[in-house]
Amino acid sequence: MLKVENVVKEFDGFRAVDELSFKIEKNTITGLIGPNGAGKTTTFNIIAGALNLDKGEVYLADQKVNDYPAYQIARLGLARTFQIPRALKKMTVIENLMLVPNGQSGENLFNSWFNRSRVKKEEAANYQKAYQTLEFLELTHLEDELAANLSGGQKKLLEMGRALMADPELILLDEPGAGVNPTLMNKIAENIIKLKERGKTILLIEHNMDLIMNICDKVIVMSDGRYLVEGTPAEIKSNPEVLKAYLGE
Ligand code: ADP
Repeated sequence: MLKVENVVKEFDGFRAVDELSFKIEKNTITGLIGPNGAGKTTTFNIIAGALNLDKGEVYLADQKVNDYPAYQIARLGLARTFQIPRALKKMTVIENLMLVPNGQSGENLFNSWFNRSRVKKEEAANYQKAYQTLEFLELTHLEDELAANLSGGQKKLLEMGRALMADPELILLDEPGAGVNPTLMNKIAENIIKLKERGKTILLIEHNMDLIMNICDKVIVMSDGRYLVEGTPAEIKSNPEVLKAYLGE
């Protein structure tokens, strides 16, 4: 599903990502962990096309996507969430979901003037899809709530919903558990597992080790921009090299 090969990214001569290679199999949940500054977010940005790499290759389902801009990578079936949710605060929850672009006819001026019935149908379908996304996330009770009024965890769920509106195959989640209370944390974990059950592939950056341990098939550890080790959550937990990386030795 995803292959990262010998990727290098430098910022003013500083190697944030250093000859990084790893693979993610389809229909799995993989955790990307490592101490602060290990290069996890930079790696996400490179995969999603938000940053250009200096060296190496990124493949999405065997297609080399190195030089593709973010929108083109999104069209190939990749969606991501951000560490700090990007919901539009003055819009309602459902409006935030309906805003996700998916080539609706209403965006085309000609259609919106001359083909009203088609635009209306598509708007209805878009609403239905947004509502189904809320059902999936168990957020229907918040449909008309302003995004600004949501709790931290609810904002994370909405962020996940925005990613899902694009029908992605591969979903990159940047710290889905950060700042989330334990009840909503369980819900987020359940949703990630449900996505896998629906055939999706998930890669997540996360500091909450319980979440990583409970849901991941595989964990990849980064340290100082490099690939350190990978394994099952249990293997990673008992790996002394991983502990050393976290202690900064
Ligand atoms: P992580 O997500 O694992 O905490 P990051 O990918 O955010 O790590 O950062 C890796 C390293 O690259 C850090 O030392 C960080 O300061 C540096 N870095 C990240 N983005 C930039 C940037 N845009 N300009 C300069 N340095 C950056």
